[in-house]
Amino acid sequence: MDIFKFGGASVKDAAGVKNLANIVRDYKKGNLLIVISAMGKITNRLEDFTYAYLSQNDEAHAIFEEIKHFHFSIIDELFQGQHHPVYDDVANTFVEIEWLIEDEPDHNADYIYDQIVSIGEIVSTKIVAAWLNETGNKTLWADARNYIQTDNTYKEGKVDWVKTNQIIHKDLKPLLTDNIIVTQGFIGGTSENYTTTLGREGSDYSAAIFASCLDAAALTIWKDVPGVLNADPKWFDETELIAQLSYHDAIELTYYGATVIHPKTIKPLQNKGIPLFVRSFIQPEGSGTAITKENNPLPVPSFIFKVNQALISIFPKDYSFIIEENLSNIFELFHKHKIKINTMLNSAISFSVSIDDHPVQIEKLIKDLSEEFTVKYNKGLELVTIRYYNQQTIDRVSIDKDILLEVKSRHTCQMVMKNKSSRSN
Ligand code: ASP
Ligand code: MG
Repeated sequence: MDIFKFGGASVKDAAGVKNLANIVRDYKKGNLLIVISAMGKITNRLEDFTYAYLSQNDEAHAIFEEIKHFHFSIIDELFQGQHHPVYDDVANTFVEIEWLIEDEPDHNADYIYDQIVSIGEIVSTKIVAAWLNETGNKTLWADARNYIQTDNTYKEGKVDWVKTNQIIHKDLKPLLTDNIIVTQGFIGGTSENYTTTLGREGSDYSAAIFASCLDAAALTIWKDVPGVLNADPKWFDETELIAQLSYHDAIELTYYGATVIHPKTIKPLQNKGIPLFVRSFIQPEGSGTAITKENNPLPVPSFIFKVNQALISIFPKDYSFIIEENLSNIFELFHKHKIKINTMLNSAISFSVSIDDHPVQIEKLIKDLSEEFTVKYNKGLELVTIRYYNQQTIDRVSIDKDILLEVKSRHTCQMVMKNKSSRSN
């Protein structure tokens, strides 16, 4: 059996849903489980709606109406005004949220976030399952919250692999024999049956969990790019498709910020030797990228760009060395403020890190750090990671830039850079 995963971009409108159904129709290899995200950018709008509701802002109502309208216009386009049961099914899902928000928020904000934001995936899968059935693919809608079991860390549910594995074997596997199964990415359930989410962009991870527990032959993630490229076309004119990638390179690239697949996706697949294919839903005939256990080095250097970086340099006030003790104090503060370090370097009396520039968090971090350390920072920077670098690739990305920090290991070079022209700012 195979697992397919379709993200929001692939089902952003009725044409996307029809295209998905064509890809499924052309799959003839046996049993299939399909993991789907919320449609288009709906998760962002559900977040806006949640925050508006939590702050009891009048805008909440209008945002919710817009979300409903978005989905019903896709259903209208697909089902052309028929009295199809999907209308009621989707309407009932929205009604549950309408009941929830009738009262003022009286729960923890992360819990409320998960109960609301998860409906993006619930309604997208209801619509896609209905359309697959309508077009002759015998499909069963499955509620991922019954299978992906998590703790109650709302907004970032931690998967209980033992329970999840047991339930999938017992309850889900038997359903696969003569049905296509459509289920949700990104969401799970607690032992008390509350909904959790697994962290933004977590649908790839959900698909990897299903693949692992079902011992799938392969997982295919359908994207709007031809496969894994050696750089994001947003930043680079000439990109190259990587036909084969090792698990190791894939995990390194995603760790450094390649957004093509979620960083947590690789481990469950690697542990079971399940190949991951990244293919284009726009050109499904293309062969895309195969991520497998074969340890071929990347055929071309790969580039990962992160903009909007802040470089923070930390110096002990008393001129003491940067050693284990003060490093552990520093790390504790980063952990406390939930700030992820993208790259770091230390010298005798300084420690520098590049982080995503979130002004509010950074201000709090600097306030805490300043008790013990002198802190300097620089904003508006760019972090470039090159996997399999050489001097030529370094020169290529650093034209007209000042390199403020450079960290090299055998295969990876990271540079924090500033535009030369912005020096006078
Ligand atoms: N819909 C969720 C998000 O946008 C999960 C996903 O797309 O992977 O974050
Ligand atoms: Mg998405």
